[in-house]
Amino acid sequence: MAKLEYAPAPESRSVVSLRPSYGLFVGGEFVDPVDGGAFKTISPSTEEVLAEVAEAGPADVDRAVAAARRAYGRTWSRLSGRERGKYLFRIARIIQERARELAVLETLDNGKPIKESRDVDVPLVAAHFFYYAGWADKLGHAGFGPDPRPLGVAGQIIPWNFPLLMLAWKVAPALAAGNTVVLKPAETTPLTALLFAEICQQADLPPGVVNILTGAGPTGRALVEHPDVDKVAFTGSTEVGRLIAEAVAGSAKKVTLELGGKAANIVFADAPVDQAVEGIVRGVFFNQGHVCCAGTRLLVQESVADVVLTSLKRRLATLRLGDPLDKNTDIGAINSAVQLERIRALADVGEAEGASRWSAPCTLPDRGYWFPPTVFSGVAQTHRIAREEIFGPVLSVLTFRTPKEAVEKANNTPYGLSAGVWTEKGSRILWMAQHLRAGVVWANTFNHFDPGSPFGGYKESGYGREGGRHGLEAYLDV
Ligand code: ADP
Repeated sequence: MAKLEYAPAPESRSVVSLRPSYGLFVGGEFVDPVDGGAFKTISPSTEEVLAEVAEAGPADVDRAVAAARRAYGRTWSRLSGRERGKYLFRIARIIQERARELAVLETLDNGKPIKESRDVDVPLVAAHFFYYAGWADKLGHAGFGPDPRPLGVAGQIIPWNFPLLMLAWKVAPALAAGNTVVLKPAETTPLTALLFAEICQQADLPPGVVNILTGAGPTGRALVEHPDVDKVAFTGSTEVGRLIAEAVAGSAKKVTLELGGKAANIVFADAPVDQAVEGIVRGVFFNQGHVCCAGTRLLVQESVADVVLTSLKRRLATLRLGDPLDKNTDIGAINSAVQLERIRALADVGEAEGASRWSAPCTLPDRGYWFPPTVFSGVAQTHRIAREEIFGPVLSVLTFRTPKEAVEKANNTPYGLSAGVWTEKGSRILWMAQHLRAGVVWANTFNHFDPGSPFGGYKESGYGREGGRHGLEAYLDV
């Protein structure tokens, strides 16, 4: 399969109007920081500076939490569920109307291919708001008693891999349940959260219901530690998750943590090879592998290992890496120089430990942060590339002979977020799903999301569930 030549098909940037600098979104308006600073956000595919954003200091955190507290007491917790639902439906519709703008901005700031932000991220964001809008007036029928109460002010901290989608996962259920929020986006991807702030204004959301504080780790820490925050919701690394759990220990704060993963994608000999190969590609090369539930460990049954690996390499050789705004691009930029360095370092360890490394033939652009789709075969369970989260486009291939061995290897990880099973047999799917210690088990698909189905981990992948009816529980006093 040779790579077909396509003419460039860039999505226009003109739909996005960037301001040179952005303030913090507190109490319904953009304000200058009181005691913070500023930092620049860049496009990881070109290293071009996109805008300067404010960095919130402790006094800014204080101000935002106070605005959220006021809005909670005076308006939001007093509105009927039906009224809250109306605002959420309105936000969902505006997201649909401004979908192109959101997708282009997400791609510029994050580096992910436009076809993913346009066809996956933004539609899921709208779907999430629609879904929880529907719950707002039905909380009494959610199985948490006749009149479940909200928790109060939620401090929410999100990562850079799905900036808008993680915002939706946090904000939509919190507001549906009657809480107000202070959200901190990741320092490398603040721009779509700020555009979401404009959408809140456009929707006439009462001031202070949603507050957005840009900043890095220290801003996040100040938010987590603020005494007037009732609930902390975090998605990010297991390392920072531990710090957060320590910071709230002994307080009345409720916490949900969605952390790392090292998912097994398990291919049995009876699986249709071409379909499984597509699933492996989607599992680990989607979003440059910046996915906590990515299928980074391929467990393939020994009798078909060669066939699967050969087809996989042939398929990977057809992927297009390059300008994320080009509609033909499959693999975009790595989100930051820091992340690129982490990926490079772990991949080098893989080689040093004796696994054999193969990278898809592709030309990396001169500027920006890039890493080619890479496959390690001959990986042992003890190798660091089989144990640690790489969070990049790197797959480790291991083999197994029996279903029992597949389960043992799949579960041999400190994480437990997701897993995939490829087989023709329904009974085997059910047996595997029962034995895999993972929050989500996909059968003959991978990285498939729906606002109606709960998502979350076991073990070091964290606790609590987001999505579905379960996702409401995290924001209700039950
Ligand atoms: P990643 O490794 O994916 O960059 P991190 O866990 O470092 O993920 O970051 C996820 C989010 O947590 C980001 O918004 C980041 O700014 C924030 N963060 C980092 N350190 C802390 C901390 N000590 N307390 C609270 N939030 C933090």
